[in-house]
Amino acid sequence: MTRQSGTIKDGQSLVERIQALLDDPAHGNNPLRSLLEEVNDHILGQNQRMERLLRISDGYQLLEHNQTLTLAERCEKQLRRMEKLARISDQYQRNLWEVTETLRQAANQDSLTGLANRRFLMERIKEETQRATRKDSLLAIALMDVDHFKQINDRFGHEVGDVALCEIAGAVRQGVRRYDVYGRWGGEEFLLMLPDTGRDEAVMVLERIRQTIADLAVGDESPIRLSASIGVTLLRHGEDIDDALKRADDALFQAKREGRNRLVVAA
Ligand code: GH3
Ligand code: MG
Ligand code: MG
Repeated sequence: MTRQSGTIKDGQSLVERIQALLDDPAHGNNPLRSLLEEVNDHILGQNQRMERLLRISDGYQLLEHNQTLTLAERCEKQLRRMEKLARISDQYQRNLWEVTETLRQAANQDSLTGLANRRFLMERIKEETQRATRKDSLLAIALMDVDHFKQINDRFGHEVGDVALCEIAGAVRQGVRRYDVYGRWGGEEFLLMLPDTGRDEAVMVLERIRQTIADLAVGDESPIRLSASIGVTLLRHGEDIDDALKRADDALFQAKREGRNRLVVAA
C-alpha cells in the first residue's frame, strides 16, 4: 500500500499515519476528523514530553558517568602522586643512609691513611678486652712507632712525611690477618690488637709488618728508608686494658732504647 500525500505508507509512525488520514481530502468531511486531530495532538504532546524526559535521563546518566570518571581519575592521580612521594621518600632515605654512612666512616677513619682512627680503636679495645675476658681467650696488644720520623719531615718536608705514613699504613694493612683490629693511634704511632693470638703468633705477624716497613723505599729519586719499633704484650685475664697498654708502651720504649727497628715482647 503506497500512496502519495494524504495516504498511508509502510513504516510510518502512528502520528504520521493519522496525519496522512487528516491530510487526505477524501476524509475532509468525516465527523471523526476533529477527534482524530485531538488524538494526534495528544500523542504529539506525549511524544515531546517523553523525548524531554529521555533527554533529561540521558543527561543525568552522562553527568553521573562523568562524575564517576572524574572520581576514578582523581584516585588515579592521587595514587600517582603517592607513588611519586614514595619514590622520593625512598631516594631520600637512601641519601640519608649514605650521608650517615659517610659520616660514620669519617668519624671512625683517619683522613690521611684511611686506617681506623683512635676514636674507633678506643671503642674496639673495650669490646675486644671484654670478649677476651668473657671467653678467657688470648689477646695480643701492640704499639708501633715510626723511627726518627721527625728527621723525615725535617729533611724531605711534611708532605713526603705524609706519603711515608700512608706507605707504612699500607704495610700494616698488608701484614695483618682478617680479624685483627688496627689503626692510627696518633702521629706516627699505630695500635694493633690481635685476637686469639699467643706470643709466638703475635711475633710472627708483627715481625712481618716490621720487615715490610724496613723494606719500604719512599720516593723515586734516592728513595727514603723507613723503620718502626714495636712493643707487644698479652692481656692478662681480668686485667684493666690501661695496664696492658702501659706494658706495650714500655716494651716499645725498650725497643727504641735497644736501637729501634725491632720488636720487643713485654715479659
Ligand atoms: P723516635 O724514633 O724516637 O720515635 O723519633 P721520632 O722523630 O719519630 O719521634 P718524635 O716524637 O720526635 O717525632 C715524631 C714526628 O712525627 C713529629 C711530628 O711532626 C711527626 N708527625 C706526627 N704526625 C704527623 C703527620 O700526620 N704527618 C707528618 N708528616 N708528620 C707527622
Ligand atoms: Mg711517636
Ligand atoms: Mg717516632
